[in-house]
Amino acid sequence: MALNLINPGIMTSPAWLMIPGGGFGTARFSSTVAVLERSNGDIILVDAAYSRDEMANPGDHFSFFHRKVLVCSGGGPASTVAQLEAMGKDPARVTHIVATHLHLDHIGGFTDFPNAQVVVNESEYASARSKGMTSGYMHIDALEASGRVQTVKLGGQSKHGFPAHHDLLGDGQVLLLDLKGHSAGSVGVLLHDPIDDRSILMAGDSAYSNREYRLQRCAIMQRALAFSYDWLKSGWARLKDFEANNPDIPVIVSHDASNLELVYAFQPKEDT
Ligand SMILES: [Zn+2]
Repeated sequence: MALNLINPGIMTSPAWLMIPGGGFGTARFSSTVAVLERSNGDIILVDAAYSRDEMANPGDHFSFFHRKVLVCSGGGPASTVAQLEAMGKDPARVTHIVATHLHLDHIGGFTDFPNAQVVVNESEYASARSKGMTSGYMHIDALEASGRVQTVKLGGQSKHGFPAHHDLLGDGQVLLLDLKGHSAGSVGVLLHDPIDDRSILMAGDSAYSNREYRLQRCAIMQRALAFSYDWLKSGWARLKDFEANNPDIPVIVSHDASNLELVYAFQPKEDT
């Protein structure tokens, strides 16, 4: 049983795009994936980043623009699947990949996990299908063709300050929380490891950096891509409250550079 974070490569992007007031240099960003290993040996990922082949051969997959702003360094060995293998974890044990949203840099790696269902908020899936690859959903056709998409509907009572939720396994270990705004059905995923009594909130791209929701200042790229700026700002308020009310639970936004150090702190422990 374990809860870990891995960082499939380091993204390098113009700072002014991703950080409010970031200036004209380039900056490094994380691309963070969470790994929850259950007591029965099943593994659940939150997001999957790029596939091994996309990391190894970006020129075969991505446009010039995407290669300049979104592609990670590190090659195939930095991919999610390669890092899991290096941790001694068989990729065939991954049963679910919970997508915070379906943009290209979060879900391409699903092809490396043939036994995994891709869990996605139904409104996100519908939006991705209607918008298609030109809006950053470049894997949507492959996802559909795989037959491995499991849509879920968020509902019920508010949970942890978020207006709707879905308990994926019915045991509180994987809670999808309504964080729409960056995209039509983007979610936060609250993971809980009952053995170590440790939790983390994976917040996807609901903010590009923790500064965004803490200071309520929007990055230029976020403003350009957000499905709804009003929803985005509501999500920021909820994240800020969550952080204040749960100081022991890290809020992980996918691309915050500080995750590169957090990932180190979450290095896998020896299996017990
Ligand atoms: Zn992203």
